[in-house]
Amino acid sequence: MPDRSDNLAELQARVAELEAERALHVRLAQTDSLTGLVNRGAFTEALSGRLAAAAADGSTLALFVIDLDRFKHLNDTLGHHAGDLLLAEVGERLRWNAGPGELVARLGGDEFAVISPAADVARRAQELVSVLGQPHDIYGRHVAPGASVGVAVFPGDAADASDLQRFADMALYRVKTRGGRRWSAFDAELRAENERRRTLEAELRRAIPAGEIEPWFQPVIDSAGGHIVGVEVLARWRHPEQGLLAPAAFVPIAEELGLIGRIDEAVFEAACALAAPWVAEGLIEHVSCNVSPRDLLDPAFSRKLIQRLARTDLPATALSVEITETFLLQDLALSRRHIERLAAKGVNIALDDFGTGYSNLRALLHLPIQTVKLDRSLIDDVAHDARVSRLVGSMLHAARALGVSIVAEGVEEQGQALFLRAAGCDRMQGYLFARPMPAPELEARLRAETAQPLPRAHPLRRRARAG
Ligand code: C2E
Ligand code: CA
Ligand code: CA
Repeated sequence: MPDRSDNLAELQARVAELEAERALHVRLAQTDSLTGLVNRGAFTEALSGRLAAAAADGSTLALFVIDLDRFKHLNDTLGHHAGDLLLAEVGERLRWNAGPGELVARLGGDEFAVISPAADVARRAQELVSVLGQPHDIYGRHVAPGASVGVAVFPGDAADASDLQRFADMALYRVKTRGGRRWSAFDAELRAENERRRTLEAELRRAIPAGEIEPWFQPVIDSAGGHIVGVEVLARWRHPEQGLLAPAAFVPIAEELGLIGRIDEAVFEAACALAAPWVAEGLIEHVSCNVSPRDLLDPAFSRKLIQRLARTDLPATALSVEITETFLLQDLALSRRHIERLAAKGVNIALDDFGTGYSNLRALLHLPIQTVKLDRSLIDDVAHDARVSRLVGSMLHAARALGVSIVAEGVEEQGQALFLRAAGCDRMQGYLFARPMPAPELEARLRAETAQPLPRAHPLRRRARAG
């Protein structure tokens, strides 16, 4: 029979085992399984800890954020398995290259970070760029994705972890969008940009409840008759000092700040109230509202939209909701639920900016999407570039086969309009017919029915018919 010391030894062994197991779990929870590097959660914790320590002993700390330049392309062409191998290689290289006191993390996707005590940040950034610029050997092929690096320094640039991360991200973003040198440090220019955004944020939070965001309307024309059949609602911000602002000045930041949902709601409500009588009088058939891909991440989005619609006099069948394909990359199951719920109520679903991103024709097969909006970038070249006109021609053909209607966006020239009409495009929108305008102007125009009609018979049209 075992004595007490045996029992004790056994107990100690069991405790040690449990502790090792717990340590492993902790390590796994903190580790990115693909690269073995610290993951985002553990990185965030480590950053706070190291900043506190640096603040206590008066040292500086640099945060480098790294993004691979051509990862998506390589992942698409070489396949996901090769993509994973490449990420593991990049992780390995960063770990191998790490200097004393540095912590390397994978933040997700093809994004990495290095927390570093390095004093010469320019040299370290340049070194990271050149280390990651060396080709990798993936399945016997030399693959060189290249990398961009953004860096911010504590306490010189930022006083806390969240600013430090944001500032390093801003520097990285500038590298990505400007080209040229592959690394950038947070500086006076970015600080000014940050101040502008801060001000904009405060103003936007005030502007929404103050009713400064208003709906403008751009007519959608029926290709055959040249009449206005509908309108697209486009947000404008009537800024007290800066005057009228286009969405490019505030939609991206509203998306970033999570304010876009409130903007879309405000625009939707105001637009429905204005447009319901036009529909009731038969001046237009439909009203099209834009929703951000971010809206679709709100589980209550479709339910709230249906409730809001019910409070207006606009019939569901007169409403069209425009979504961009980026939703396909986000929560597809949730997006699908929203789309199906809205479609079941009779709301028309339109796929916006078609031809720019993933142009996923399969989405048209698997989701109740009744309309596709051909992006302006395609329309731009349609009358001048035979390849684009063939492409647009076959897109129109495919859409017809799927029973989907097509709206061409950004039609500016008569030649584009004639091609599109001949190729069987149902509807058009663009400066050729009308620019976006405020409600009273649109209403006057609808009553006068002044949509510029297309010439009746035209050589282009006859030739296309004959061919
Ligand atoms: P979008 O949905 O693709 O809207 C069409 C944009 O093209 C509008 O720009 C319109 O003014 C412009 N446009 C129309 N015809 C022509 C043309 O012939 N030539 C040229 N060069 N441009 C033309 P806008 O109003 O600046 O809106 C830009 C984008 O902002 C919209 O692109 C949409 O993605 C977004 N947006 C606008 N309003 C809202 C909104 O209420 N909510 C959300 N989430 N996004 C909105
Ligand atoms: Ca749109
Ligand atoms: Ca569009």
